[in-house]
Amino acid sequence: MSPVVRQSEKLRDVLYDIRGPVSARAAALEAEGHRILKLNIGNPQPFGFDAPSEILQDVIAGLPMSAGYSDSRGIQSARRAVVHHYQLQDGFPAIGIDDVWLGNGVSELIQIALQALLNNGDEVLIPAPDYPLWTAVTNLAGGVPVHYLCDEDNGWNPDLEDLESKITDRTRAIVVINPNNPTGAVYSRETLTTIAEFARKHDLVLMADEIYDKILYDDAVHIPLASVAPDVLTLTFNGLSKAYRVCGYRSAWLVVTGPLERAQDYLEGITLLASMRLCPNVPAQNAIQVALGGYQSVKELILPGGRLLEQRDTAVDELGKIPGVSVVRPRGALYAFPRLDPEVYPIKDDQQLALDLLTSEKILITQGTGFNWPRPDHLRIVTLPWARDLAEAIQRLGNFLSSYRQA
Ligand code: PLP
Repeated sequence: MSPVVRQSEKLRDVLYDIRGPVSARAAALEAEGHRILKLNIGNPQPFGFDAPSEILQDVIAGLPMSAGYSDSRGIQSARRAVVHHYQLQDGFPAIGIDDVWLGNGVSELIQIALQALLNNGDEVLIPAPDYPLWTAVTNLAGGVPVHYLCDEDNGWNPDLEDLESKITDRTRAIVVINPNNPTGAVYSRETLTTIAEFARKHDLVLMADEIYDKILYDDAVHIPLASVAPDVLTLTFNGLSKAYRVCGYRSAWLVVTGPLERAQDYLEGITLLASMRLCPNVPAQNAIQVALGGYQSVKELILPGGRLLEQRDTAVDELGKIPGVSVVRPRGALYAFPRLDPEVYPIKDDQQLALDLLTSEKILITQGTGFNWPRPDHLRIVTLPWARDLAEAIQRLGNFLSSYRQA
């Protein structure tokens, strides 16, 4: 018999639980004919969120001219639109189109940015909880993810003392996800300024994942990290997946600001990796100019009476009714990250909890440790379903928890 084919050693610490074993079990149940409520992925379309029609029209109109490869950094008109977009943001440093790279989703640009930066053993400061792609890609790139804690008792803001204490002479970058996935925290100017100060003092690169910058609730205001760090090398990541509800298009951008003359070598590395994937999906690049240009329909979803706001409120209210469950009210993004009081729910293995919930209720959520949260006492729920469906799902979660005993 020929030997078993194994995955590479490089994948040893690479985990992506949002689409991990629990989701694989959900797919198997679906194949058996069960209907699964998927509260695991921030994927607006299946929940009835339509993409703005002008985006669809421009993509369709551009299709006949989109059959060839584009420039590896992306088409000029879209990169120009990204430049204009940031020119209109208060305090954002001036950029030109050479400071913009387009990508097949922020996901691809994260891979390019970290692969181009990290040598083996280089450390990257990443929030805990995090959007786990940052940790996975750091590992894949040979780096070492070092998690700084975010403090639930302080609205899930970064614990700045913890962050600073984890800077070493191997640290290369600080990742800031704002608005945050999974917690929904939106950071103040003071918090961002302090993080920028750490980067300045220790000569670190800032990586700002701002994909939820337009999904804000109540009085939350998004402040781009680059705007408080004009003198620090800052990579800002954003795209069309969430605010424009077209995550299937895979369309995003990366913008660099700060002392670029000192970073030429790194930026050439980014361009090299961008050229090795040839170019981003061309039809989807056509969506960027129209999306960033005109009317921003996402506002209708987040203002009073808006669907996303109503669903955020429903999630918070319904979770609050479950004994032993608490949740910090998300101020942005598409998720809630409730805590299960360990005194009430002594959970040892939260992936098993997610599997048991799936088997019993056919509801798919992601366990908190899947976001590099160090204890098995949180869950992440996507707040995309219609309020009544969300309320029902959370009530079923409550019923399930009331009788749940882990072996
Ligand atoms: N960054 C964060 C914080 C996210 O939550 C997601 C997707 O959920 C991504 C990046 C990936 O986005 P994209 O669809 O642009 O690859």
